[in-house]
Amino acid sequence: MTHPIIFHPLDGTLPDSALVGARARRIARMRKAGLPVPPAVALDFAAVAALTEGADLPPLPEGFTLPVSLRGSAGDSAWGGPQAMLNIGFGPDTRNTIATTLGEAAAWELERRLIQTFGTRVAGLDLEDFENLYYDQLKLSPQPEEEDLAAIVAAAHEFYADEEGEEFPMDARLQLGRAVRAMAGEWHATTARILREAKGAPPDAGLGLVVQQMVFGLGEGSGAGMFQAVESNSGRPTRTGRFLPNAQGTDAQRGARTPHLISAEERAAAGQSLPALEELFPEIYANLLARHAEVTALFGEQMALFFTIARGEFWILDAVPVRRNPEAAIRIAVDLAKAGYITREQALLRVEPRNIGETLHPQIDKDARRDVFGSGLPASPGGATGRICFSSEAAAALHAQDQSSILVRVETSPEDIRGMHVTAAVLTVRGGMTSHAAVIARGLGVPCVVGASDLDLNLRDGTLTALDGRIFREGDIITIDGTTGQAIAGTMKMQPAAPSDALDTLLEWADQTRRLGVRANADTAQDASLARRFKVDGIGLCRTEHTFFQGERINAMREMILAEDRTSRDRALARMLPMQRGDFEDLFEIMRGLPVTIRLLDPPLHEFLPHSATERAQLAREMDIPVEKLTHRIEDMAEFNPMLGKRGVRLGITMPEIYDMQARAIFEAALNAGKKTGAQIVPEIMIPLVSANREVELVKERIAEVAKAVEMENQASVQYHVGVMVETPRGALRAGDLARSTTFLSFGTNDLTQMAYGLSRDDAGRFMRDYVGKGVFPEDPFHTLDLEGVGELLLLAARRGRSENSDLTLGLCGEHGGDPASIRFCDVAGFDYVSCSPFRVPVARLAAAQSAI
Ligand code: PEP
Ligand code: MG
Repeated sequence: MTHPIIFHPLDGTLPDSALVGARARRIARMRKAGLPVPPAVALDFAAVAALTEGADLPPLPEGFTLPVSLRGSAGDSAWGGPQAMLNIGFGPDTRNTIATTLGEAAAWELERRLIQTFGTRVAGLDLEDFENLYYDQLKLSPQPEEEDLAAIVAAAHEFYADEEGEEFPMDARLQLGRAVRAMAGEWHATTARILREAKGAPPDAGLGLVVQQMVFGLGEGSGAGMFQAVESNSGRPTRTGRFLPNAQGTDAQRGARTPHLISAEERAAAGQSLPALEELFPEIYANLLARHAEVTALFGEQMALFFTIARGEFWILDAVPVRRNPEAAIRIAVDLAKAGYITREQALLRVEPRNIGETLHPQIDKDARRDVFGSGLPASPGGATGRICFSSEAAAALHAQDQSSILVRVETSPEDIRGMHVTAAVLTVRGGMTSHAAVIARGLGVPCVVGASDLDLNLRDGTLTALDGRIFREGDIITIDGTTGQAIAGTMKMQPAAPSDALDTLLEWADQTRRLGVRANADTAQDASLARRFKVDGIGLCRTEHTFFQGERINAMREMILAEDRTSRDRALARMLPMQRGDFEDLFEIMRGLPVTIRLLDPPLHEFLPHSATERAQLAREMDIPVEKLTHRIEDMAEFNPMLGKRGVRLGITMPEIYDMQARAIFEAALNAGKKTGAQIVPEIMIPLVSANREVELVKERIAEVAKAVEMENQASVQYHVGVMVETPRGALRAGDLARSTTFLSFGTNDLTQMAYGLSRDDAGRFMRDYVGKGVFPEDPFHTLDLEGVGELLLLAARRGRSENSDLTLGLCGEHGGDPASIRFCDVAGFDYVSCSPFRVPVARLAAAQSAI
């Protein structure tokens, strides 16, 4: 059966926005509330679709006067849509009526506008040609009189007929039918579809249309404008807008003539001599403010009002949510709740969690033109400009001269940490969302793009070549957009980071609402302090090997890993003990009794072995062995697949003295920090990469022995929890066993995703864009949790774990801990906490609250 094409009335009964779109429903609500909105009807999505297929448009409801405006009505106003078309349905009769009521000049002007709109938007003629007809006549008579306007209209008719081979259709029904189809065509254009899909619209999103009776802003005491009561770039209260006398639609915003500002205050601040609307028409201004307040109350939202003044009468044509940047979105939501227009819960739901992340880092101006030369995965948000550096040394050298650098590497390794600390942004050619570069950059809050595989980095020639052949060299200035994943040539205009009091308020409300704990992945005192500033609930993952990536320390670690016998290993461990104890003491002190989960060493060996000849020579000197011997040893230890090799608990089982040292460092640090802070410190010790329960039993026994020894030596009681990091599929399947002997399980979803898919987390970036682009994966599973596969493993492990140990604490500490969709999953699954990098803690607090509402 074909869909009935009817005009839905937009008053009295409210139509469903899923049927007619958000704008149609908004207009119906305003009319129902008695606001001065001209009569309107709507065509639903299915009707518009049927009309584009060739169905006939029924006559407009009786009494509906012509001409009309047509406005697109999408399912969500954020998706945008075609621009309004005005003055449609203009036949000889309407022309006569308008000439009688508004005068001949207005009638000619409307006919001119109609031919221009229809000619360009429906018939596809060139706008410039129409404008030239107009301006040619203006040159002859700068103050056009009736006859001049008539002459322009005649010329427009002639031009249309010449171009189209037929007369301009002065038939209302015909104009309306063709205009509807043209708007539907604009909606389905590829660019429009891509743009709205980027804003979250489904591929098959339909378009409804609002058909509204025209009110005319032409002539004396008339005009058109726009008003809003908050600033779009901050959300702060203001009274701003534009008004153009003798105008229609968006004329005031288009700038053909200088518009008047709305409020006297804004005019004074701008130093504009043209009087403001407030000064021109004080009564209308007062009416505008009163109506705007009603609209705010009606929608519980800050709306921009599009209005027309028709010979002294004030009309609202449309009201749309004010355009806002992330900072403004937060303040608007908080202020609306404080003023009682919406509840706190509604305010929490109004803000996109990702918007919070965007306010914490400087961002590239969204409207600025970009010369993009490469793109990859958006691994860490924010924008930064600097000079290309192909090595950490070069970045450090620029830093020493107070210059900004962009570290460009094929991929990063522990040796790059120093450079990553001082660089403004990181760009890698390889790597995925959980690669070394991505994880470290997110932790540091440094903008980062990884897996930019369309770039060719040739270190020997010192060139970075783009797909279009452009060559960049060390010292060239580029900009990285870690929010979108783009590498851009040259500098860009930036918007500064804007954490605000409004954000603090919103997050306080989030904390009162959420069930799920939010901890931080924090390895250093600096990370922990930052996390505390973001009001974290504890540390969910301290990757103990990370503090050994820096400076002198890396050699202590290498010495320990490469030791050939117990004596030399013990010597290296003795060097590491005070370093670790000091680090842990700092963390415990900063967190003051909040939970701190310390993961025992999990270094995939390849990340730590020295690569360059210089490094080998230096290490050999420190270890007091010949370089050849060291080289031999390194070759001996090389693994075919280090991520599945001797890492995690496997290292702890085969070299138990490593974990002994770490347990001792943890207990001694807890006692020291306990004494200093007076807080009861109960460290949580986490065993990585477990796949069999026996691994846990062996490690636990040794930890207990160390605890006993430390208690004896210090004459003090040592309390602690032992937990398992579930990051192998077998670990997840055997979660029941693991839960019997531990107090918590924390899902390491980076490795679990890697192993569940059999997909290298360091290499996935090379083809992930193709995979997502072709719809093989809906999203990068290293970025947002794969609910169907990895999610099932999590649910199964949680169920098995909790059925064996009802007090079991469940957490997630992979990079997914900062992703809103994954956070919702953890909340719904009844987990106790997620843990993410400090900069993502505020994002996670909001996402957890939204999930709880
Ligand atoms: C994980 O695997 O999810 C995890 C958090 O550990 P890492 O990233 O250090 O392997
Ligand atoms: Mg892991």
